[in-house]
Amino acid sequence: MRGSGDDLLRRLPQVQRLLETPEADALAAAWGRPALADALRRTLDTTRTHLRAGFLAEIPDPAALLARAAADLRARAEPGLRRTLNATGIALHTNLGRAPLAPEALDATAEAGRAYSNLEFDLETGARGSRTAAIEPLLRELTGAEAALAVNNGAAAILLALAALANNGEVIVSRGELVEIGGGFRIPDVIRQGGARLVEVGSTNKTRLSDYRAAIGPETRILLKVHQSNFRTIGFTADTPIPDLAALAREHNLLLVADLGSGLLHETPGVAEPTLTKALASGADLVTCSGDKLLGGPQAGLILGAARALDPIRRHPLLRAVRLDKLVLAALEATLRLHRDAPDRVPILRILAQTEAVLAARADRLRALLGAGEVIPTIAFAGGGSLPEERRPSRALALDPPGGPDDAARRLRTGRPAVVGRIADGRLLLDMLAIADDDLPELASALQPLLP
Ligand SMILES: *Cc1c(COP(=O)(O)O)cnc(C)c1O
Repeated sequence: MRGSGDDLLRRLPQVQRLLETPEADALAAAWGRPALADALRRTLDTTRTHLRAGFLAEIPDPAALLARAAADLRARAEPGLRRTLNATGIALHTNLGRAPLAPEALDATAEAGRAYSNLEFDLETGARGSRTAAIEPLLRELTGAEAALAVNNGAAAILLALAALANNGEVIVSRGELVEIGGGFRIPDVIRQGGARLVEVGSTNKTRLSDYRAAIGPETRILLKVHQSNFRTIGFTADTPIPDLAALAREHNLLLVADLGSGLLHETPGVAEPTLTKALASGADLVTCSGDKLLGGPQAGLILGAARALDPIRRHPLLRAVRLDKLVLAALEATLRLHRDAPDRVPILRILAQTEAVLAARADRLRALLGAGEVIPTIAFAGGGSLPEERRPSRALALDPPGGPDDAARRLRTGRPAVVGRIADGRLLLDMLAIADDDLPELASALQPLLP
């Protein structure tokens, strides 16, 4: 059926006619006639657009139009947020949801969502209570902080701390730490948004204590230390450590705020990040971090430190805008309890503690299930954007699919479950670091159709 654009458009069948075809009966039985009619209308609209634009040279036959409507119905029935197997070799992948939660955290979330709770209600007195009352003692116990607070994410924690404490004064930051954390969230902008003035000191590669000292004036309120979590300066560098900055801050009656980012609670073999406890013990008045990086909990931001620094934050009106949701709060409390009672049950810590032998055995099992591919050594990472230096030896199954690695990667991404691997040297790699043993049969089934 070839013809001019308008001709073609006129010959496009009506919804009613398509509904009367034999192919429509089974679809109407499965999805309902009204839903099918709506899907056909959307399909015809799209087809019209494509005909007008010249993307289509002829009218699809009724069976093809019904098949498109069926695909439309299937796509709409499916959740947009999908389980994804992380074969990237990056354990904390921000785009893949960072840390997987422990079963204990998921149970707590389900319970908090299913029923009413004492979220902001003191059951002893019957009066209004604090939303974070249950987690503050846990955070104090785990970090040695005098006071603690949790908010929506790490970015909110810094924004709130600066807004509440800078008092329209100056915040001194090293030029080596004026970083973009991700998604356009840049430290200079956060300082501005917090109503403070940024005073840059030092140079990109070197900032000394004397640089900070020289910049302190009557308007200075805060020394801000931003941990280099998503990049490193190497070579000819000098950095001023927290204890030196803490002494300077005390001397001038300023606050030292340290944004640590990753939220490591316990010294962990193979993880070189500073712990929250150590940063506080070294003299930071406040430390901030994310809840869903090395802490291994839900998306959250923690603010820990001196009570005199936390009090203005608790009273700041912005707190309400960045407060935690009850589901997240439940998951965070359960995760903190695990850190206290059984840290080896925190999934991200388990993932990072896996030995090379365990990863090699997993890769061998996948190879055996699939009956194809080559197990190769790889370097895997604790974090993607964050923690660039936290690398560890891992294993991947390397495949050479006939259609090429890009096409195979696309087919894996759009499968059920979705699988995200990586491409290196023209091969498709499935890294075992963030794959669970239980995922292997499903992963093998997803890979099978890619092979000859
Ligand atoms: C990740 C990170 C943040 C932002 O935390 P989010 O929880 O992602 O908002 C802030 N600062 C540093 C140093 C980080 O690594």
